[in-house]
Parts: sequence; C-alpha cells; structure tokens
Amino acid sequence: MPDSADPWVMIATAARKSEAQEIAYALDLRGITSKQLRLSRGLLKGKTVAVLVLAEDEERARESLPFIYQGMQSRASLRATTEINACPFCGYDLAGLPGNLPCPECGKDLSTPEAREAARRASGL
Ligand SMILES: [Zn+2]
Repeated sequence: MPDSADPWVMIATAARKSEAQEIAYALDLRGITSKQLRLSRGLLKGKTVAVLVLAEDEERARESLPFIYQGMQSRASLRATTEINACPFCGYDLAGLPGNLPCPECGKDLSTPEAREAARRASGL
C-alpha cells in the first residue's frame, strides 16, 4: 500500500456524537476502521461530528452506509416493552409482533417516550 500523508476520507457526518459512535460501531462490525472528527462550528449546518475511514476502505464503507442508517432507524423506532415483551400499558403479550406497530390490544403507540417511561416503571427500574 502506498504511504500517504492523509489516508483518511470523510464518509459521513452526524448531528450528535452518539450518532457518529453508532456509525463507527457498525463500521467496526464490518471490519472497517474509522475515526471521528469534531467539525468546526458552522462548517456543515447541524452536523457536528464527521466519521472518517481509511481511503482503502472508503468504497466498502459507502456501500455499508445505507444499511447502517437503516439499522439505526429501526432501532430508534423499536417499541418499548416490559421485560417479558408485554405492552407496558395493558400487559398484552407482544412476542412475535412487528416492532413498529401500536399495541393491538390497547392501541397505544409503543415508540413514544411515554411508552418507554411506562416500560421502565413496569419493569421496576
Ligand atoms: Zn397494550
């Protein structure tokens, strides 16, 4: 591999450090080394952290990005349930049901902060 002074290329930007860390973690799972760089204020509107990968991994990283974002989105929309995978509002057993739907028994949206709070209370945490 030719020695380069700056082998890092930016492949993504994130609004929050936690978001950048999630991208970095997902890249790491694919065997891609990355690093994060705090962006100067105002460089990119609303984006504060850049994710960089080595130039040799750039193509692979760019191909992975849509899947990584998809995964982050589906995790964010995951429903809140009790420890036994029941609805935190009515106790209905949600096992095997898609995570993005409201509770079929009481109809409550389980992806809201309110649902997460209820799930915490129901689990005694
Ligand atoms: Zn319910």
